[in-house]
Amino acid sequence: MKILITGGAGFIGSHLTKFHLSKNDQVTVVDNFITGSKKNLSFNFAQDLNKNNLKIIEADIIKFDFSTLEPFDLIYDLASPASPKDFIGLSIEILKTNSVGLMNVLDFFIKSNSGTLVFSSTSEVYGDPLAHPQKEDYFGNVNPVGLRSCYDEGKRFAESLMMAYFRKYKKDIRIARIFNTYGPYMKKDDGRVVSNFVNQAINDQPLTVYGDGSQTRSLCYVSDMVEGLYMFATTKDQAGEIINIGNPNEKTILEIADIIKKLSRSKSEITFKAIGADDPKKRCPDITKAKRLLNWKPKIDLEEGLLKTIEYFKFLESQQ
Ligand code: NAD
Ligand code: UDP
Repeated sequence: MKILITGGAGFIGSHLTKFHLSKNDQVTVVDNFITGSKKNLSFNFAQDLNKNNLKIIEADIIKFDFSTLEPFDLIYDLASPASPKDFIGLSIEILKTNSVGLMNVLDFFIKSNSGTLVFSSTSEVYGDPLAHPQKEDYFGNVNPVGLRSCYDEGKRFAESLMMAYFRKYKKDIRIARIFNTYGPYMKKDDGRVVSNFVNQAINDQPLTVYGDGSQTRSLCYVSDMVEGLYMFATTKDQAGEIINIGNPNEKTILEIADIIKKLSRSKSEITFKAIGADDPKKRCPDITKAKRLLNWKPKIDLEEGLLKTIEYFKFLESQQ
């Protein structure tokens, strides 16, 4: 298959790129490296992958002239900063990427008559949810002007745009709502909970829990996420579908801190810091739809995934 992955040099995108290369697909990555890195697409690759099947284009999807490219069988639009740390510094970039950028991808998708387009939306469209666990038909509880709104509303606009194109052009457009994902090749300093806690734990520094740690998240290991995205992209008759992809194993942030401390045999203490505005109090995907339509569910349990992540960050430390 001929595949385009925007944001393919990011955390999830680089794993997805590797996955498709291992299937002997031809992959084109368009990425401006604003939060991703070329390194993710170099030492990420095992020897047996055919690098000649990979083309990397350094470009911003907001401005890139996609008409210079041939049609693709499958397009994943993953480009977008995604860490709460970036919601302040990159707020306008996030809004533009999920609006003007996605529109540019959609116009190319339609004009080139490419096969399928999968957009990476997020559990953040549910905001600080009042329904639990979150099903796809829940409309969400989002502060439209708060600090997280660039991302939440950016993705909500993007979903609306996808559906408008779907209704007008009747093409194969699909929306994946991704829940918290973790694993090797997360950016060490991206400020997310797993990268923070693991790096703090392996350096015996205090683990920084925001608030009282009673808020919950449900963490999905990256290989499960990649398989879920692939199953969604390639299962027949899913045009116009919106599907949660994530792991429903819900834990409090304090529980996650304790598990990471235990697995990394860390002497770290736990400290409590102020929590950001609108930080969702609960988050857990209802994945009934993914199980039914895609025959997919996550396989890697939390301790196994965290051990692999700890090993990766220890390896990075040893290289410094
Ligand atoms: P990431 O920041 O590691 O990857 C995003 C990639 O997109 C980076 O390589 C970045 O350089 C690139 N990019 C950003 N703006 C761009 C632009 N305008 N033009 C070209 N490239 C651009 O983030 P990630 O965690 O891999 O997330 C990938 C996608 O999945 C994002 O769309 C994100 O919103 C979504 N998502 C991720 C999570 C998660 O837990 N990681 C959860 C929900 C949704
Ligand atoms: N969090 C924390 N300490 C950290 C980083 C994050 O307690 O060092 C909390 C954060 O407040 C949130 C949860 O962990 O409640 C998940 O945060 P993350 O930034 O990973 O992603 P989010 O789900 O908020 O987008």
